[in-house]
Amino acid sequence: MKKIIAVDGPAGAGKSTVSKIVAARLGYTYIDTGAMYRAVALKVLQSGKPAEDVIQDIDIKLDEAAQVFLEGVEVTKDIRTPEVSRGASDVAKFGFVRQKLTELQRAMATQGKVIMDGRDIGTQVLPNADLKIFLTATVEERARRRFVELKEKGFAANFDQIKKEITLRDKQDSEREIAPLAQAQDAVLLDSTSLTIEQVVAEILRLAQG
Ligand code: C5P
Repeated sequence: MKKIIAVDGPAGAGKSTVSKIVAARLGYTYIDTGAMYRAVALKVLQSGKPAEDVIQDIDIKLDEAAQVFLEGVEVTKDIRTPEVSRGASDVAKFGFVRQKLTELQRAMATQGKVIMDGRDIGTQVLPNADLKIFLTATVEERARRRFVELKEKGFAANFDQIKKEITLRDKQDSEREIAPLAQAQDAVLLDSTSLTIEQVVAEILRLAQG
């Protein structure tokens, strides 16, 4: 069984949904690195201080239930707003932010039995991961899923707006200089456009057992 699984890919490809399920099936810990960038962005927005100051003594914790704590306060839902999504992609450009979060992420993976998702896990954070997945889907499909999810939660949602935001964030994440969103050479490419969540989970479990 592969002990360390890295899942990367663009926004809304289903990384966290499938990673959570795979973690539960294997008895692994799921680590959502995007939530950590989001927590940094939330602290910048709340404090009005620059990322350089905020990152110095930031306290970010993820628990077993994938709840997110910033300075001891639970912020799991607060980090999911479009404003924080944009802010996360903005702070993710800074080397000092990436360095600090990468250290924390590596420390969280030392005991193994983890599945970690993000943008640079296979390329930078855990280059020796036992299994690397690059999960994609067309931007239309990713925007459609996000739209349906928001509608189901009772939020007002605009498909074109969601598609625009996802496209912009992918562009920014792929074109930044440090640790851009990229498929590792040894990653398995999974296109989930016409697959169900269960099909993607089954494929990752099959690869994890190989
Ligand atoms: O995965 P999620 O959409 O929550 O990530 C939010 C943002 O955090 C991404 O758009 C990206 O800019 C940044 N991120 C990153 N590296 C990671 C995970 C997330 O740069 N490993």
